[in-house]
Amino acid sequence: MSGDHHHHDDHDHDHHHHGSVTHSHLPSDPALRVKAMETLLTQKGLVDPAALDALIDAYKNRIGPQNGAKVVARAWSDPAFRTALMADATKAIDAMGFTGLQGEHMVAVENTDETHNVVVCTLCSCYPWSVLGIPPVWYKSEAYRSRVVIDPRGVLREFGVDIPETKQVKVWDSTAEIRYLVIPQRPQGAEGFSEEQLAALVTRDSMVGTGLAKQPGA
Ligand code: FE
Repeated sequence: MSGDHHHHDDHDHDHHHHGSVTHSHLPSDPALRVKAMETLLTQKGLVDPAALDALIDAYKNRIGPQNGAKVVARAWSDPAFRTALMADATKAIDAMGFTGLQGEHMVAVENTDETHNVVVCTLCSCYPWSVLGIPPVWYKSEAYRSRVVIDPRGVLREFGVDIPETKQVKVWDSTAEIRYLVIPQRPQGAEGFSEEQLAALVTRDSMVGTGLAKQPGA
């Protein structure tokens, strides 16, 4: 991670100065700034450290693409759930316990032999965070947001996804009100897989549409 690089640089720097920590580079460390703000907010009684810990734990360990993968795996294995998901994704996902939506509606779009779906937010970075966690940097990038609309096949090729000309590519533009979840095609060779085994094949990118589900054994 880039944060580690930063720390290594600091260590080198400190070493040359015999460990004298100069205030000129302390504030450049984002982790330190965050810690300082947390301390201040806690001291002023504006933030409950336990609530902050719970929030961080949620994003680190409980809210992430593993939730979306479970939704996809269930859709692949349970036709009644798939029908419910396609009809009302908000309700179906809520029933699986992946809540925390703040008024926005989830819409599931399913990849088929005829259609490949890909999701973007051209305005900002709206993302189905309750099922996919924190959006990747590229999703928020100006390049992705502007180019995927104009040349979806070209952008997908850069992600290593080659969509044949015979297949339609649909680009879904997220908004504050609607968040899309792509249901990738179930790969061949996963017959008889449990939901848990199937979920392991579902990548984050496959649920944004910039990837495909993994092949079993790949
Ligand atoms: Fe947005």
